[in-house]
Amino acid sequence: MARILTICTRLSEVSHTMSIAEAYPEVYFAVGVHPQHAMEEKNCSVEDLLAIASHPKMVGIGETGLDYHYTVATASEQMQLFLVHIEAARRSGLPLIVHSRDADEDMIATLHAEYTRGHFSCVMHCYSSGERLAQAACSMGFYVSMSGIVTFRNAAELRRIFSTVPADQLLIETDAPYLAPVPRRGKRNEPAFVRHVAEAGAELLGLDYASFAALSTRNFLRLFRRVDGFDAGPAS
Ligand SMILES: [Zn+2]
Repeated sequence: MARILTICTRLSEVSHTMSIAEAYPEVYFAVGVHPQHAMEEKNCSVEDLLAIASHPKMVGIGETGLDYHYTVATASEQMQLFLVHIEAARRSGLPLIVHSRDADEDMIATLHAEYTRGHFSCVMHCYSSGERLAQAACSMGFYVSMSGIVTFRNAAELRRIFSTVPADQLLIETDAPYLAPVPRRGKRNEPAFVRHVAEAGAELLGLDYASFAALSTRNFLRLFRRVDGFDAGPAS
């Protein structure tokens, strides 16, 4: 069965996302306060996230993270919320879905410090940061996710970084409705277009399409363990 993971980026909108996941067997969801919404939902607590995580189709915590590109003014609120989400990931055993933009050094320092305090699983979603952050994430066993950006002509450096990520730590995504891949660039992105990201990933790894698709599905199911109803409990 094909599966879709949809992300809710504000706690205040989670009931809508939940109703979609409840209506369609193949749809699962994650929720978190996106760093760009840090001011609006700065009071989000670990308990708030854990309460929603009791829903059987909630399979991840996030998006959360640091975005200094658009919203550097709220850096301290973003960091405070990021730590809340990390603790919720530890206590629920659900993987963290991390957004990071123009914040590589703070992201590396925070992930290292927090991972040392207590393990959690994680994906660096829509990865478009530098090589050092990718290596730091990989060294902690985190996953690194390709979006449509890897198909862009000007993304040679990003493709090179992805070629250094271990194959069993790679994921693919759309990040819809943004970042539609070539040859759909400029259109509204949608889940079906993930095929083009997979084609780019297969080319990068020198695999045929079916092998790469099987690899990325295996990786997805290993990280998002609650998909298919299997909940392995808190990370050790
Ligand atoms: Zn994001």
